[in-house]
Amino acid sequence: MNLTHPFLDADGDKLREECGVFGAINAADATAVTALGLHALQHRGQEAAGITSFDGQEFYSRRGLGHVAENFSSSEAIASLPGMMAAGHVRYSTTGGAGLRNVQPLYADLASGGFAVAHNGNISNAQTLRDDLVRRGAIFQSTSDTEVIIHLVATSRYPTMSDRLVDALRLVEGAYSLIVMTPTGMIACRDPLGIRPLVMGKMGDATVFASESVAFDVVGAELVREVVPGELVMVDFDGNVTSLHPFGTHRSRPCIFEHVYFSRPDSVFAGHSVYEARKAIGQQLAIEAPVEADLVVPVPDSGVPAAIGYAQQSGVPFELGIIRSHYVGRTFIQPSDGARHSGVKRKHNANRALVEGQRIVLIDDSIVRGTTSMKIVEMMRDAGAKEVHFRVASPPTAHSCFYGVDTPERSKLLAARMDVEPMREFIRADSLAFVSIDGLYRAVGASGRDPASPQFCDACFTGEYPTALTDLARREDKDAQLPFDKVA
Ligand code: SF4
Repeated sequence: MNLTHPFLDADGDKLREECGVFGAINAADATAVTALGLHALQHRGQEAAGITSFDGQEFYSRRGLGHVAENFSSSEAIASLPGMMAAGHVRYSTTGGAGLRNVQPLYADLASGGFAVAHNGNISNAQTLRDDLVRRGAIFQSTSDTEVIIHLVATSRYPTMSDRLVDALRLVEGAYSLIVMTPTGMIACRDPLGIRPLVMGKMGDATVFASESVAFDVVGAELVREVVPGELVMVDFDGNVTSLHPFGTHRSRPCIFEHVYFSRPDSVFAGHSVYEARKAIGQQLAIEAPVEADLVVPVPDSGVPAAIGYAQQSGVPFELGIIRSHYVGRTFIQPSDGARHSGVKRKHNANRALVEGQRIVLIDDSIVRGTTSMKIVEMMRDAGAKEVHFRVASPPTAHSCFYGVDTPERSKLLAARMDVEPMREFIRADSLAFVSIDGLYRAVGASGRDPASPQFCDACFTGEYPTALTDLARREDKDAQLPFDKVA
């Protein structure tokens, strides 16, 4: 195999968080604040961005493909979205593809008034619910799973908006962190297991919500707390905040991959600094998988905090043996598969002067398909590294995610196809090790994984999904029926 790699794109072989949401109410410049907040969440979705605002009379929407800055940096764009309340969304293409009609927030005129919703997550019974709604006469405008929520709210017979929303969400399975706008205010809510993140903040008289706390740092808001799993937080235009817990109490199962890779390291997730958690994962990895080496080298940027932790724990010096160019610019990621994989996005290059003749421990956050890991190992060898040991700051990713994260189908995940030793051979490293699942839990503040009732969603490592996967089960059922259909 010809592995020419003057530059590498290490981002094409990652799991990707698919959405980020931000909302502001009782803010004099709600749209400008929302645009700024979305900009801080840009890493959660780079294919499209949208903002909807409300000025007390009308709702206004603006949505476009591309980055937040491409759509919302002009004063004309901000002025076109007036009002004291606004909500926004950044996305990769998730359920529903990448068309403009699927760009959120989605908006509908209901009998009770306007209804706008921005959703982070994925509804795992969306197709089943949609089929049922269509049979009952619903006409869908988009192919997004989020529109199912709008139709369920529209057809609910409860009198108040909060009751209608609760009525709708009782039917929904999967992961959702929602920011909803109605003529009476904003509702932020999180699924009963809290799989996707959502935090609440304060900025003077304004209340703000965001997928990650880093957005509050950027807009100058103060983090108040997480929206609790299963909670609806309602804020009206007088600043009254009401909290409902209509789904009973469950042990929360936030996505542990937020700690590993998705969240920005300067965010606080599930009460812990993401940066500190990543460093602790690296320390744990050094305890579990030590190796004689001269340098600890991160795969930038996501491997950096874990590599610092590994170096601190092991005493092996941390060095930047791979340099990422920050001057290439992030090419707009086309939503078609071919363009996505061929586009020049991020550039990495070996720091030859440093790695030549050295025994290197490479630290990355995860291995997905393994193709990038293989190329990076080869790049280190071509730069003269004597030995290349690969250490991974998460357990083997052997299962797909159905909760709003873009994962390749299971057959393309390296860890689903082979054990660790064949994986080592595949990426051509001298040794390969992953942090254990218990080690990961310990690093993020738990005392180890409780197998009877795990404290996080970790399904992409363990295959133990915390919710029903109705649409998947129906598909598998259908596939199972196929031979019989053919016989018939
Ligand atoms: S399956 Fe993995 S990526 Fe998806 S929510 Fe669970 S832990 Fe996160």
